[in-house]
Amino acid sequence: MDIEQFRKEGYKAIDAICDYYAGLEQRPVVAQVEPGYLAKLVPDEAPVKGEPFPAIAADFQRLILPGITSWQHPSFFAYFPSNATFEGMLADLYASSVTNPGFNWACSPACTELESVVMDWAAKLLGLGEAFWVQGGRGGGVIQTSASDSALVAIVAARSAYLRAHPDVSTSDLVIYGTTQTHSLGAKAALILGLNFRALDVHPTFQYGLRGSTLQKAIGEDREAGKHPFVLIATLGTTSTGAIDCMSEIGPIVRDSGIWMHVDAAWAGVALSCPEFRDKSYLKDINEFADSFCTNFHKWGLTNFDLSAMWVRDRTQLTDALDVTPAFLRTKQSDAGVVIDYRNWQLSLGRKFRSIKLWFVLRSYGIEGLQAHIRKSIGLATLFADSVQESCLFELCTPQSFALAVFRLYPQGIASMLKQDELNSLNRALFHKIAARSDITITQTDLLGTFCLRFAVGAQRTEERHIRKAWEIISATAVETWAEWQGAQSVPIENGTA
Ligand code: PLP
Repeated sequence: MDIEQFRKEGYKAIDAICDYYAGLEQRPVVAQVEPGYLAKLVPDEAPVKGEPFPAIAADFQRLILPGITSWQHPSFFAYFPSNATFEGMLADLYASSVTNPGFNWACSPACTELESVVMDWAAKLLGLGEAFWVQGGRGGGVIQTSASDSALVAIVAARSAYLRAHPDVSTSDLVIYGTTQTHSLGAKAALILGLNFRALDVHPTFQYGLRGSTLQKAIGEDREAGKHPFVLIATLGTTSTGAIDCMSEIGPIVRDSGIWMHVDAAWAGVALSCPEFRDKSYLKDINEFADSFCTNFHKWGLTNFDLSAMWVRDRTQLTDALDVTPAFLRTKQSDAGVVIDYRNWQLSLGRKFRSIKLWFVLRSYGIEGLQAHIRKSIGLATLFADSVQESCLFELCTPQSFALAVFRLYPQGIASMLKQDELNSLNRALFHKIAARSDITITQTDLLGTFCLRFAVGAQRTEERHIRKAWEIISATAVETWAEWQGAQSVPIENGTA
């Protein structure tokens, strides 16, 4: 493709993207295809001769779009949001145009320097203190691919620091702490690193947040058994229910025990941009006690996947753990120690130019634009949660957390007479009916044996009318499910039709 053809096809591509977004509401939320659909429609091998680009672009519409679930659809309430903005898309395009592996400052100085600048901007936006900044602090921010990568990097740095301080400890005795509600990234990091993971108990009474007494007891037990807990993955906004570990209690304990605290705020962290959510989110304690912190701007932060923002209090902890510099990677600026080489702050060598996305987004929306988006999502989630609470058919399983409501069908006056299994199968039936629809999507979770439904708001185009429509669908489906369930109970089991 030459420049002129790129210009032409580029205009067409932008038109196609605009058409997709203009028609988003008319599309199914969930891709309506069966497993293996695509392999049946494309050749088994790459073409021997190159094909004309218009044919390839047409196949994106014909073959790919039907298999795309629209995470930006205003009726997408599953998992957590995956925001995408036009500003972010354009940033990706510009970044691709100057593609480079970005591992050292010298690869393209602007990529490294912009990352340091926007990560300081983002730290200030979220209220992370000076300790986490590059300018003026000993810490700094780095953009990782995912919260899982961020946690893995934090654990590698924590392990390295712990083993330097305790050279006689065997790695087989090291323990990573999380809770039963920690994202699977904790167990996965343990798997990758060959370390033990201990999931500490949390309770519904304390809204599934880790308490200091539980942590203190576990440390005592493990140390007694010759084990070495060295890192705690604390969560601000768990995936299941948006639970928040009690940082004010666990912070002093980890500090006094020499345990690294990594705060996984993958989803909820961007809510810290609004001052009114900072106390509830223990920002003060995070600033005092966290060694590292992560939030994904690619979830709720108006930035297209991928942009996982990770900060550390002491950047030398990353470079001490991850700097491997063969001769071919040395540069005079690195040798002089006057630049950041982000390869030493992450697992891989090469890295995308992602900071441009955050730069475009933060400049276009401003702090106020991001705050407005967060507040709107939370307000809409409150509308849904209020409907749940006012209905005699449902209950909230946990208090609303930010823009997440976790609920279940719980017909008042009768539900208390049902066994847990019965309520679970009733709610599974409701979930399967909703999951079979193409005009709305939600997800499910299991809360220590209780099957629940999750309703997460955060898509940019979601308005009050989408929440009201979702509520209508969910409540009507619940009435139907409950009626069917009651009908099935009255049919004698022995006639085989129940
Ligand atoms: N942590 C929490 C609390 C999450 O909710 C999620 C995903 O939803 C993750 C981590 C995983 O994020 P990633 O896909 O960036 O690894």
